[in-house]
Amino acid sequence: MPNPDSAATKIAPRLDPVQASAAGVVDLYLRKQLETRREQLKTAIAELPTDRGGADATQLAGMLHEVDSAIQRMNAGTYGICDFCHEDIGEERLIADPLATLCLEHLSGEEQRALERDLELAARIQRGLLPRENLRVGEWHIHFRYRPAGIVSGDYCDVISAPNDDGSTLILVGDVAGKGVAAAMLMSHLHAMFRSLTGMGLDLGRLMEMANRVFCESTFAGQYATLVCARADSDGRVEIANAGHLPALLVSQDSVQKIGSTGLPLGMFSGSRYSVEAVHVEPGESLLLFTDGISEATAAAGGEYGVDGVSSAAGRHRHLQPREMAAACIEDVVAFGGGTRAADDQTLMVVQRAARGA
Ligand SMILES: [Zn+2]
Repeated sequence: MPNPDSAATKIAPRLDPVQASAAGVVDLYLRKQLETRREQLKTAIAELPTDRGGADATQLAGMLHEVDSAIQRMNAGTYGICDFCHEDIGEERLIADPLATLCLEHLSGEEQRALERDLELAARIQRGLLPRENLRVGEWHIHFRYRPAGIVSGDYCDVISAPNDDGSTLILVGDVAGKGVAAAMLMSHLHAMFRSLTGMGLDLGRLMEMANRVFCESTFAGQYATLVCARADSDGRVEIANAGHLPALLVSQDSVQKIGSTGLPLGMFSGSRYSVEAVHVEPGESLLLFTDGISEATAAAGGEYGVDGVSSAAGRHRHLQPREMAAACIEDVVAFGGGTRAADDQTLMVVQRAARGA
């Protein structure tokens, strides 16, 4: 969810204080990070073998000096400001590197290239976490399109077969608050978490409760994710839990039904509960899951594509195979945007039940 402000207004006005206090929590987190580093460096320096003084000692002392001056800047209220242009360095860059003293624009050529290499690597790792394309799992035929707005994406999608071989498949599409590497790291965290939790044989509501609790405990306040988690059985029954995400669309022969939120986003309140909606998908019918980069795409002349835009495209392309249906829906969004570059990560997944005799 690349735009946390619009996310907050979508959820409920009473969540605004969470947003407002997030900045303070990030400050505390960064201070803790720096203090931990200082302690670790001091220990490393104290334990350095005497025969390895020289270069090692100089390097560690240099790092300690950097950490100390970051803490001093924090105390003086000048932390997080670019040395060159005096603009805000940005929270996400500081989370990735609490010692940063320059904004992205004012890094040296070499530093920028190093950062680009890191990003490329992060993007490769992220692509490796995606499910296979044009996947067939039992009765289900699944295809997705994953389009990061930048090099990495804060969108999450996965398909996990139940380990106990009961024929059910877990399908997830979600969106992490924020952008860039910090969001991509949270996305990989979701990926690992759901893959671990799926092995526990929990019902869908409990699975979401556990996922939310683990997410709350392992991220700092202000980090959250919205997602749809669907469990599809071989007989066409699909259970859906929706943690504050956009609706899942059930695209049947004569209608497109929206299945809205059944609980709060993951990572907001550790005690959140999730109800589950069950739908029946007939052979040839599809579920369509997507992120807000799709529904919030804007036309050059203004105006938003909207959930209704997605819903009407899904209805028009309902007779296509998943790969073609996903492609046609994406083409529709791109055409709406007049070919302008997407401002936001876009993910769209089609989960189709095999037609009779297919
Ligand atoms: Zn700058």
